[in-house]
Amino acid sequence: MKKLLRIKLDSKTYLYEDCPAHYMNLGGRGLTSKIISHEVSPKADPLGEENKLVIAPGILAGTVAPNNGRISIGAKSPLTGTIKEANAGGAVAQKLARLGIAALIIEGKSKELSAIKIDKRGVHFTDAGILKGMGNYALIERLKGEHGDNTGIIGIGPAGEMMLRAANITVTTPDFKIRAAARGGLGAVMGSKNLKAIIVDDTEAQGVKVANPEMLKEAASELSKGILSHPLIEGLKVFGTPILVMMINTANALPTRNYSMGQFADAEKISGEYMVEVMSRRPNSHQTHRCMSGCIIGCSNIYTDEKGNETVSGLEYETLGLVGSNCMIGNLDDVALINRLCNDLGLDTMDVGAAIACAMEAGILPWGDGKGAYALIESIKDDSEKGKMIGNGCFYTGKALGLARIPHVKGQSLAAYDPRVLKGTGVTYATSPMGADHTCGNALPSPANPDYNPAAPTGQKEISGFLQRYFAAIDSLGFCLFASLPLLDIPELQRHLIACAASITGQPLDENYLIALGGEVIKTERGFNTKAGFTSKDDRLPDFFTKEALPGTDTVFDVKEEEIDTTLNF
Ligand code: SF4
Repeated sequence: MKKLLRIKLDSKTYLYEDCPAHYMNLGGRGLTSKIISHEVSPKADPLGEENKLVIAPGILAGTVAPNNGRISIGAKSPLTGTIKEANAGGAVAQKLARLGIAALIIEGKSKELSAIKIDKRGVHFTDAGILKGMGNYALIERLKGEHGDNTGIIGIGPAGEMMLRAANITVTTPDFKIRAAARGGLGAVMGSKNLKAIIVDDTEAQGVKVANPEMLKEAASELSKGILSHPLIEGLKVFGTPILVMMINTANALPTRNYSMGQFADAEKISGEYMVEVMSRRPNSHQTHRCMSGCIIGCSNIYTDEKGNETVSGLEYETLGLVGSNCMIGNLDDVALINRLCNDLGLDTMDVGAAIACAMEAGILPWGDGKGAYALIESIKDDSEKGKMIGNGCFYTGKALGLARIPHVKGQSLAAYDPRVLKGTGVTYATSPMGADHTCGNALPSPANPDYNPAAPTGQKEISGFLQRYFAAIDSLGFCLFASLPLLDIPELQRHLIACAASITGQPLDENYLIALGGEVIKTERGFNTKAGFTSKDDRLPDFFTKEALPGTDTVFDVKEEEIDTTLNF
């Protein structure tokens, strides 16, 4: 039976607990949100000792199901004040699952900066004073050298130690590249606990017990075939998520100049197509990279400089949209270097990109000044006030600079999709329990759904409400979002994913499993937020989206408030 591993940092003690019945069939986001809502007061100070950091592999972690292994990290967020879950690929989820751990519950605060190692024998606490202030690249190199290749690392950079609100939590891939549970400032929560790193070693671990291995094998094989049959996957394999740059630019939804335009004149220079061309000329660049073992797509990349030195892996659409077009930085190398710097400091590139655009709107930097943006972020290392302002994210920066146009919901910056023409995504930004978060339900047009008009003022709550439940379930399974997209266009494939989950317990699950599970997760999260004091007034996009039409369109965000307020009534 999987266990909860409760780690008390104050006393440097730990306890394996039987997983209570009401957590048994949960994992990932579903489990982190349940535990946070049971164990953390909604009124808790997110950076106080009362808050807990919960880390949970998904339901499918450690099995042969394809593209599973995302790790969910949950807490009360210092960025939004809401309940929060952020997830990432990498190696850690599969290792925790193989160690028989359903969730880590990290409590209290260490007196000094510390690190913990988890392996088959238990938990080992070490002093991490020597790692103080260390960037993530050096941290990973060092810990890998000390603990070996069969480890997965969770860590924070200087931004997390400084408790900046846009600080992320780094997770390593099987080949020790950086992935991040990026959103919501969870790195600041880890920093508030004086916890620099968690090393997970699954050497000689027991593995995951599956009640019906034959059923799992068959369902996993059918699921893989179905995913690979979808035309989207070919595009993702070649161009990765940057394929979206030109698509979203054409749709007039690529955030440009702090969301004042939906098209960027230099979009081609930061596009997936151009990036692949650049990488084909550069030594050691790879247009395909897998962030976790068992991935059958490989949507990520390794982007190098002209000499073949790795700049970053991977360079993704959201960074290109928020750091690139939204700041009018039309230079791939500049964006990649800022991405690397954010990775090293342990910062969310999305909230930081949106914060830089706010700084540019306020006249702190000229539009398009990639080198200036780099220097401003880098000044965090010198404890500069302006640098820390950026490190606290877009909402904090916009407020500090007295801006009227701050693209956020509940304190978290929007993603790289303008809600005036993608109104279903706008409804998700407004209503998601996580603050503005596209991964909670990004309603993009699809050839498989030709009747859906993303720019219409009506019909958006239905699609957002459905997608929010669907993706809450996907995040609970630990399944990759990109692998889950074909299942929306070809719904009969969902039964194979459901069969994968059913094979683990051997108990049948019905065809409504995903939507029922996602609905339950969202209900739990909204319950927490209501007790924290959030109301429907917080479920709103900033005014400027409802008043300023996008150039080239007469479109504003005009979904009625009654529709927004009933999106998650289920
Ligand atoms: S498709 Fe991309 S995000 Fe998904 S598991 Fe593979 S590399 Fe990671």
